[in-house]
Amino acid sequence: MTTLVGVIGWPVSHSRSPAMHNAAFAELGLDWRYELLPVEPGRFEAFVRELPGRGFAGANVTIPHKLRALALADRPTRIATATGAANTLAFRAGSIEADNTDVEGFLAALRERAPGAPEGMEALVLGAGGAARAVVYALISEGAARVSVWNRHRKRAEALVHDFSHLRSHVRMRAVEPPEMPRADLLINATSVGMATSDADSAAQWAEAIKELPITADVWGDRQIVVDLVYRQDGTPLQRLARSRGVVCVDGFDVLVHQGAASFRAWTGLEAPLGAMRRGAKDGNTN
Ligand code: NAP
Repeated sequence: MTTLVGVIGWPVSHSRSPAMHNAAFAELGLDWRYELLPVEPGRFEAFVRELPGRGFAGANVTIPHKLRALALADRPTRIATATGAANTLAFRAGSIEADNTDVEGFLAALRERAPGAPEGMEALVLGAGGAARAVVYALISEGAARVSVWNRHRKRAEALVHDFSHLRSHVRMRAVEPPEMPRADLLINATSVGMATSDADSAAQWAEAIKELPITADVWGDRQIVVDLVYRQDGTPLQRLARSRGVVCVDGFDVLVHQGAASFRAWTGLEAPLGAMRRGAKDGNTN
């Protein structure tokens, strides 16, 4: 019988995860299938509890369910507990395990293009939502020297800094806003700015999108690396800007593939075929 996994979200139709994971299952010849699972917020817990009986070995969880996913887990990992969110559930012997593979996905993608990062680096994180929390946790645990957090609504950046303050014995951390933006070795966009609003955004829309982020001349460091968690086929405005400046750029597909590979390992116990996953995610073919 085919083993099932899937991604639970609302909305979830834009996800590249089915294409990415189904490409991996095909590459390894596994009789597994990954499905889109649109679930409204009020139905999440009941829906998850039915999944093992329907042949599901696990699931990814995305907006807006990541906090609920952690809350219903019987066995959360240390990372899921520390970040306050779970994006991966595994059903084993009647119990629900939960992990947050966005942390490992971010670190693995970063190190693939910039070995040694983020140790000793000055990082500027844009955003204070779920993805930003995973990134900040990763930066603190892997020895960044300073972590500055900007968010459109400053109070959320302050809350994030406060929530992680017990972890940061050696890391300088603070909420920032213009005009006092710090110069950074590592600039991470963990906002949703740059996501496609239509299939054919105009150049003017692109120019407007990047203006929503405080990317001034001040923030560009000498040895800079840019990570943009947003993924879109033709690159985001920030990725284009970064590449035009010749800096190392880690894009949202890189992070997506590595967080997916960690989920794949949790479900199957096998190493994930990264090349097939990357091709699947980029092509977007869900078969
Ligand atoms: P989230 O919890 O909803 O947070 C959204 C963040 O974006 C908040 O900081 C929000 O600021 C900010 N934002 C939204 N619109 C903005 C605008 N017009 N100007 C400035 N800031 C704006 O979402 P999330 O889970 O953190 O995800 C954030 C992005 O990362 C999404 O695009 C998601 O697809 C991507 N992501 C990618 C991966 C990957 O594997 N590549 C993994 C996780 C997430 P406010 O607080 O001020 O509203």
